[in-house]
Amino acid sequence: MLDRNAPVFVAGHRGLVGSAIIRRLEADGFTDLRTAGREALDLRDQSAVNSWFDAQRPTYVFLVAGTVGGIHANTSRPAEFLYDNLMIHATVVEAAHRVGVEKLLYLGSSCIYPRLAEQPITEEALLSGALEPTNEGYALAKIAGIKLCETYRQQYGDDFISAMPTNLYGPGDNFDMEGGHVLPALMRRFHEAKEAGDTAVGVWGTGNARREFLHVDDLADACLFLMDGYTGPGHVNVGTGVDLTIRELAETVRDLVHPGADLTFDASRPDGMPRKVLDVSKLAGLGWRAQTSLAEGLVTTYAWFVEAAGRGELRL
Ligand code: GDP
Repeated sequence: MLDRNAPVFVAGHRGLVGSAIIRRLEADGFTDLRTAGREALDLRDQSAVNSWFDAQRPTYVFLVAGTVGGIHANTSRPAEFLYDNLMIHATVVEAAHRVGVEKLLYLGSSCIYPRLAEQPITEEALLSGALEPTNEGYALAKIAGIKLCETYRQQYGDDFISAMPTNLYGPGDNFDMEGGHVLPALMRRFHEAKEAGDTAVGVWGTGNARREFLHVDDLADACLFLMDGYTGPGHVNVGTGVDLTIRELAETVRDLVHPGADLTFDASRPDGMPRKVLDVSKLAGLGWRAQTSLAEGLVTTYAWFVEAAGRGELRL
């Protein structure tokens, strides 16, 4: 169990995941949360990261920083996704080791698994086949991050653990239409179509790809659960274990946001991985399950979106 009064560094606190982790830690009574914005600390710079750790001396680290985005961002900026993430994971793990951080949680992604992995995907599927080309750079960096945690544990005895979340959504998401992920992009597209009085709304790909969606507050809860009670070299999948087609997702978002709209599918856009649903039995065996259904999560996320858009505070 983590000491609630010890200093905790949340790397990536402004993102979808980092902001949810901050909310979760505050709600749980953590009194000493440390953060560093991009302008104050370039996480790709080892000497800057070392200096920051020397000055701050965190006891625990949540490593949830990274260059992230949807399928189009990944395919159009593959070098950034590979370089930034490789560097960020390596500098933070090394600096945490240098100052003797007691426990670190590294957050990966379900895209680490082979494109044609058996579904639902178990933790053992890692490195058993070729990766999905649309996010290969990101996946390679994430795999390197898992291996950093494993090897620092093996060679130095550091208690560094990793969690692999499925596709995430929730308040604080990136609603950029080109760069973001499918769920926020569709939510915004249906919303803007309703505002403009349009009835045709475009969806990328065939609509047949299958994805699983986890509310980010559930992920934050799972991260704290693992930090409090899990140790070991193996990474742990975090998801709901339930998936649906992109067509079904688009219809669900449509019914919530703009019930009269018609869907048009743009097959010139890639589908990416045909199916991506995690086997979550390892985490269930430890005693954790997701609490938020997609239907509930969509309602609260849309309410958040409308309010944030009204205040002009969306990340676009
Ligand atoms: P992925 O899980 O890494 O492929 O991440 P995405 O969230 O970017 O895409 C998931 C699936 O949704 C893919 O099959 C996309 O083709 C499909 N999709 C449909 N419409 C959109 C959209 O407007 N934006 C994005 N990013 N994906 C979309």
